[in-house]
Amino acid sequence: MNIGAHVRGGGKLVPSLEAGVEIGATSVQVFVQSPRMWKPSQYSPELLGAYREAQAAHPTITHTFCHATYLINLASADRELYEKSVECLTNNLSVARGMGASGVVLHVGSHKGAGFDDVIKQVAQAFERALDDAEHAPAGVADCPILIENAAGAGGTVGRSLDEIAALIEACGNDERLGLCIDTQHLWASGVDYSSVAGTKRLVRDIGATVGLERLRCLHLNDSKIELGGNRDRHANIGEGTIGAKGLSALVGHPKIRNLPLLLEVPGDGDGPRAKDVAQARRVVMAGIKMYTTPKKKEVTS
Ligand SMILES: [Zn+2]
Ligand SMILES: [Zn+2]
Repeated sequence: MNIGAHVRGGGKLVPSLEAGVEIGATSVQVFVQSPRMWKPSQYSPELLGAYREAQAAHPTITHTFCHATYLINLASADRELYEKSVECLTNNLSVARGMGASGVVLHVGSHKGAGFDDVIKQVAQAFERALDDAEHAPAGVADCPILIENAAGAGGTVGRSLDEIAALIEACGNDERLGLCIDTQHLWASGVDYSSVAGTKRLVRDIGATVGLERLRCLHLNDSKIELGGNRDRHANIGEGTIGAKGLSALVGHPKIRNLPLLLEVPGDGDGPRAKDVAQARRVVMAGIKMYTTPKKKEVTS
C-alpha cells in the first residue's frame, strides 16, 4: 500500500517533501511552479540535487510526482496559447526529471468544441516536443514520463475516456515515455461506475484493453462532490462524497491497483490532505483488499 498526497511547501521543493513526511504520506505530488501562472520557477542544479538527496534521506517517501500547470492547453486552436503550453510542459518536465520524479501528471486541455479528432495530431506533437526537448535527468536517474490524467468530461476536455487517452498514445507511436494517471473523482464524473468489485474488474479489463495496465503509474484518490456522470471536477474528502468509502475500497483493493501510489488531492479542511486523510485512505485500502480475498472454507470435522 502506498498512500500519497498532493503537498505544498510554499513554492519550495524540499519543504514540500517534508510536508508529506509530516502527514504520513509515502508518496508526494507537488507543483513545480504556481499552477495558475505561466512564469516558470527557476531551480538551479544544486536545488534539484538537494531534493533528490532529501528524498533519499526520507526513505519512507518512495515516489515523487509533479503536477503540470493548469493553464496548459495542448488542444487549443490559439497558436500562441498552444506554443506557451508546450514550452511550459517542457519546463515542468525538465524540473521533474531534475528532481528524480516518477512522472509529470498532465491535464491535456480542451478543444472547446472543435472535436477530439481535430486535435489528436497537435496534442501528439506537443507530447513529442516536450519529451524530446526537456532536459534529461542526471546520470543514474531515469527520465520520467508524462502521465496523462483522465478528465471529468466538461467543456470539450481531452482525455475524458480511456479510448481517447489510448488514441493519443497511439498517435505518438505508443511512445514509452507516456503513461496514465487515473483520477478517481474525474472517472466517476465521466460516468464510469467502479464502485463494486464487478465494476472495478470491468474497469481494470478496460484499462488493459485500451491504454495498457503497464502505463498506469499512479492514481489520484479523491471522493466526489458530483454525482456519477456529472462531468465536473470537484473533489471531496474520502468517505464524504458520492462515491463513498465502500465504493473507493472496491477500486483500490484490486490487486492491480492496491500497490500503486494513491495520491490524495482532497480538500481536507480547506488546506489539502491532512494526516487523518492519509489514515482514512489506508483504512479504505485495507477494507478493499478484504473484498478480493476469498474467505477460507471452514474445515469440516466429523
Ligand atoms: Zn490533476
Ligand atoms: Zn487529479
